[in-house]
Amino acid sequence: MRDHAATSFWLQTANDDLTPRPPLDGTTDTDVAILGAGLTGLWTAYYLKRADPSLQITVVEREIAGFGASGRNGAWCAPDLNITMSRLERLHGMDAARRMQQATYDAVDEVGRACAEAGIDAGFHKGGEIILSRGPQGEPSLQGAIEEYQRFGFGDRYRIIGGSELAMRVRVAGATRALVSDDAAVVHPGRLVRGLARAVERLGVRIHERTAVAEVRPKDASGRATLVTDRGDLRAPVVVLAGEAYLSQLPGLHRQLIPLYSLIVLTEPVTDAQWAEIGWAGREVLASTRLSVDYLSRTEDGRILFGGRGAPYRWGSPIRDEYDHHGPTHERLRGFVRAWFPSLGDIGFSHAWGGPLGMPRDWHPTMAFDPGTGIATSRGYIGHGVSTTNLGGRVLTDLVTGARSPLTELPLVNHRSPDWEPEPFRWIGVRYSQWALGRLDDEIARTGKPPTGRTLAERIANH
Ligand SMILES: Cc1cc2nc3c(=O)[nH]c(=O)nc-3n(C[C@H](O)[C@H](O)[C@H](O)COP(=O)(O)OP(=O)(O)OC[C@H]3O[C@@H](n4cnc5c(N)ncnc54)[C@H](O)[C@@H]3O)c2cc1C
Repeated sequence: MRDHAATSFWLQTANDDLTPRPPLDGTTDTDVAILGAGLTGLWTAYYLKRADPSLQITVVEREIAGFGASGRNGAWCAPDLNITMSRLERLHGMDAARRMQQATYDAVDEVGRACAEAGIDAGFHKGGEIILSRGPQGEPSLQGAIEEYQRFGFGDRYRIIGGSELAMRVRVAGATRALVSDDAAVVHPGRLVRGLARAVERLGVRIHERTAVAEVRPKDASGRATLVTDRGDLRAPVVVLAGEAYLSQLPGLHRQLIPLYSLIVLTEPVTDAQWAEIGWAGREVLASTRLSVDYLSRTEDGRILFGGRGAPYRWGSPIRDEYDHHGPTHERLRGFVRAWFPSLGDIGFSHAWGGPLGMPRDWHPTMAFDPGTGIATSRGYIGHGVSTTNLGGRVLTDLVTGARSPLTELPLVNHRSPDWEPEPFRWIGVRYSQWALGRLDDEIARTGKPPTGRTLAERIANH
């Protein structure tokens, strides 16, 4: 059997022995059937049960709750989407873009509130967010970001700081200025997802682990949709697909998302003397303006987590355990830790892991329910799912129960992303963007010239 504690530091330290729950016991009928015990599936179960305690809700999970991205992420619970407000404005109008952004701020607070309500010790700490420019070349991008927030009416939530004010917060080699806000939190992802699983069980939700869904069938003449599993069929008037990147492995969904691996390294605990050099006492979530994405967090026990993309996309979009580790990318991330924090010297690294992000073709998350087929889904968060899954759970609850609310009017609702191209075009396009963004970052660092925003790679990244 799989050693689930080896999946990530978070599952290893989740205060949970990770013993799998019993699988589905043959063909079963229920009111709501959920594929996936990650944050999307579990928040959906949580809010549905609160809306209607009489609902019978059954979750099926191929491995264990939290096995996917929810138990492996970078611990950022931040009000960000991968799709910019300007692009949401172009697609859905100014008001919708603004409402969407406001919903992301609310989602961060709701994660904290719901954890307190449900008795989940997720280590929720709202320390804020710091996006660093490591050199003047990153500063135009900070300026562009704050102007965008100002244009949409959120300017008072953000500030650009530098000099001694920045140094008081955190001391990163080469950092010149930073965009800061108070709106983001850091969590313990393992305790959040495992605690949420126990919380929904207390509300009466059934979770069956080690139960793999092989096929999803829409509503038939009996009015029930079906999750066909290796342990029997799970039938219900409403089926929720909450499998994020893994949904790409199911028939019919192969081109809706691609799995893109994000990887993480974690240091040994940093000594008090080293923390005195670094600062970062507020445990803000931290990143830089690099185009190819980095994200950092400080754990409760004083380690530094450094995550980034860069693991190569694989032909045909497979998901395999061995892809959680990619030597060259993990080594690069360790090098970044040493470059950002030279005072750490030759600090040891205790953990390295990774996992697949779910990436839609248009970078646009989807929260949808089709009463005709009985199928609901919330997916496509890319690197911003920790708070957005909570929003997804609330949106799906309102859609499924038929409640009209401000949530059901959000622009992510009932969006359908276009399909990814078939191979080999998908491989060529994704590999090209990964390579070009990395190269551009290296060039920016070497020349000190800010990005123009006009290269093909940037246009793809800002898409
Ligand atoms: C390395 C990494 C770092 C990240 N960092 C951050 C971050 O710092 N902040 C942030 O906001 N977001 C981050 N993300 C993204 C975020 O973690 C995800 O968007 C979010 O957790 C998605 O939750 P989910 O429940 O939709 O999917 P998942 O957590 O992936 O859960 C899906 C579940 O469905 C199960 N499943 C899938 N297919 C089947 C099937 N056929 N049958 C049965 N079960 C199935 C899987 O086993 C899995 O447990 C990161 C992701 C990764 C991989």
